[in-house]
Amino acid sequence: MNQRIAIIGAGPAGLAAADEALRQGMKAILFEKGQVGEGIRCAEGFFDPFRSLAPPEAAVRFKVQSLYFRAEKEYEFSAEGLRLWIIDRAKWQQHWAETLKQRGVEIREHQFISRRNYARLREEFDWVIDASGVPPVTSLVYGFRDYYLPHSLVTAQYVLSGDFSHLRDGIKVGFSPDYLGYFWIFPKTETKASAGIALLAEEYGHRDLNLLWTWLRREIAAAGLAEAGVIEKGGGLCPAKMLPRLVWGNVILAGDAAGLTSPLHGGGIDMALLSGREAAGTIARGEVQDYRERLEKIFKPRLELERELVRLWAGSSFGELERVLAGVHNLLQGKGIGPLLPLSRDLLQKAYLFFRFWRGLQKGFARG
Ligand SMILES: Cc1cc2nc3c(=O)[nH]c(=O)nc-3n(C[C@H](O)[C@H](O)[C@H](O)COP(=O)(O)OP(=O)(O)OC[C@H]3O[C@@H](n4cnc5c(N)ncnc54)[C@H](O)[C@@H]3O)c2cc1C
Repeated sequence: MNQRIAIIGAGPAGLAAADEALRQGMKAILFEKGQVGEGIRCAEGFFDPFRSLAPPEAAVRFKVQSLYFRAEKEYEFSAEGLRLWIIDRAKWQQHWAETLKQRGVEIREHQFISRRNYARLREEFDWVIDASGVPPVTSLVYGFRDYYLPHSLVTAQYVLSGDFSHLRDGIKVGFSPDYLGYFWIFPKTETKASAGIALLAEEYGHRDLNLLWTWLRREIAAAGLAEAGVIEKGGGLCPAKMLPRLVWGNVILAGDAAGLTSPLHGGGIDMALLSGREAAGTIARGEVQDYRERLEKIFKPRLELERELVRLWAGSSFGELERVLAGVHNLLQGKGIGPLLPLSRDLLQKAYLFFRFWRGLQKGFARG
């Protein structure tokens, strides 16, 4: 099949699309505005809940062994069974781009696709896969840029230098009664970590974006890291609702551009990979009209569960959250439901759903 494809953006979605295009024998050219791996804002957790991705071997910092959840108290959940790694994303993307080049994909760096050359690209190529992140070029051209913010988790993140040896092979996720969202510390090495905060999408409750950085600094201080040095400051949107329309003429949206991150935690590397792969695959099969339906089918079981979990989380008091964490922690250790007593139907439902979700992470979610 001699389809010519232009791909905008060499993030996970764009690289996966290029890889699949190559596999399908199509000619793909990848356009990246900077250098591959430059300017990434990410906590670098590579999570494969569908068990359908190759481990990111070229750039693993460590495989996560424990998740420390903190509400009032801290609970250590074993990450056994979870396919979760902390990676060096820049290195991972650069290594992948290099192998793609060797296999014949043309990657043009420092090629910013503006509105003007977007039109030219669409004329010159049979298909354009827009994997330019959020907001994507296509949204500027068609005027749907404003779709993303209300449907996104909003994050703020520092990369810190300090002593993170106590978290060896573990990551930390914390909650607060002050905001609807979570705080994280993901170590990169024993002396470097990303520390960030994510507020859930608007549909789950009111959020005050002006306080994002204040809360983050407060969490960092509460974690005993007030003295840590700041190496980088960043953050951004994690769009968590798939766009109603993913194909615009001969342009197909993939990854963040398509609104594909987890509504629960905002992680999106896995869905970027799967949607990038699927975008190129549907072109090869001549089934572009089914692209959105295919993605719905693939992601639905997990996303429905996550949305339900977010709704219950949003409707919980901080005290209930504490009891659910404590209860599920106990259950997973075979110690009964003590912290959940006295048991109400509501609390049981919340704990059951979280338990089911955790089991899904350990054993994999059914794919459509
Ligand atoms: C603070 C933060 C922390 C996160 N942590 C995690 C995490 O730990 N785990 C996880 O799974 N997800 C995480 N995410 C989400 C994750 O980073 C994204 O879901 C993922 O990067 C999406 O991949 P993508 O390829 O769609 O887009 P991107 O990774 O954004 O890639 C887009 C690419 O397009 C290029 N580009 C943009 N515009 C143009 C243009 N006009 N012309 C040419 N090139 C262009 C960019 O330079 C970039 O290389 C985090 C997000 C944030 C904001």
